Amino acid sequence: MRKNIVAGNWKMNMDFEQGVSLFSEIVNMVKDEVRGEQEVVVCSPFIHLPALAKLSAPVANVAIGAQNIHQAESGAYTGEISASQVKSTGASYVILGHSERRAYFGETDALLAEKVNVALKHDLKPIFCIGETKEERESGAFFDVIKTQLSNGLFHLSAEQFKSVVLAYEPVWAIGTGLTASPEQAQEVHAFIRQTLAAQYGQELADNTSILYGGSANPGNAESLFSQPDIDGGLIGGASLKSRDFLEIIRVFN
Ligand code: 13P
Repeated sequence: MRKNIVAGNWKMNMDFEQGVSLFSEIVNMVKDEVRGEQEVVVCSPFIHLPALAKLSAPVANVAIGAQNIHQAESGAYTGEISASQVKSTGASYVILGHSERRAYFGETDALLAEKVNVALKHDLKPIFCIGETKEERESGAFFDVIKTQLSNGLFHLSAEQFKSVVLAYEPVWAIGTGLTASPEQAQEVHAFIRQTLAAQYGQELADNTSILYGGSANPGNAESLFSQPDIDGGLIGGASLKSRDFLEIIRVFN
């Protein structure tokens, strides 16, 4: 069956020493608590990855990831980082399709499909983010938006490839705003995502795919969100920068 995953997205926060110290605290706190069917993932800025990989290597079920990769294998792309470079640090995940990258860096579904391909080629598991804006929620178009993001970004994959993908439903209006989707709103979309996967790849694959919720998740609301049948964990922004809050969210699954 699918895994429960609590993933932190540090975004563009934490200098090198601060990040190493936060991750050391997280590892020390969770090392005896995370069980077989659960995984904790920290997606840090690139600069931290090699140091975090060393700290996480001895700990089962704690993994690290990047927040972006370039779509090309290598070459003259000044300032960019490739999938194989990320993999070589010891990372095993990469966030792709985050709404901040779609909105501020012009990442389209077509570009994201290329990034997904290069990630999988180098054995990085995409945490693929989808979600609607406030206007799309209010106009009722959100199911269509989500279906389009899934189909344009991911449905070119074979079922075998898709098994490495983790999904994150992140309603844009809930990110960093303190406005969380209600457990019922989130569950409704997660169930829709799973149905859409079942129609494309069959029920078994849909049942085995982890679908995380992201958007102002915190220790106060994690339990009600994660207890929904189709919510398999969270992608946590602000609250992942505080070790105690992040730990409390992880402990919802204990
Ligand atoms: P917040 O938890 O800060 O709302 O951010 C969510 C997010 O964007 C995680 O990727």
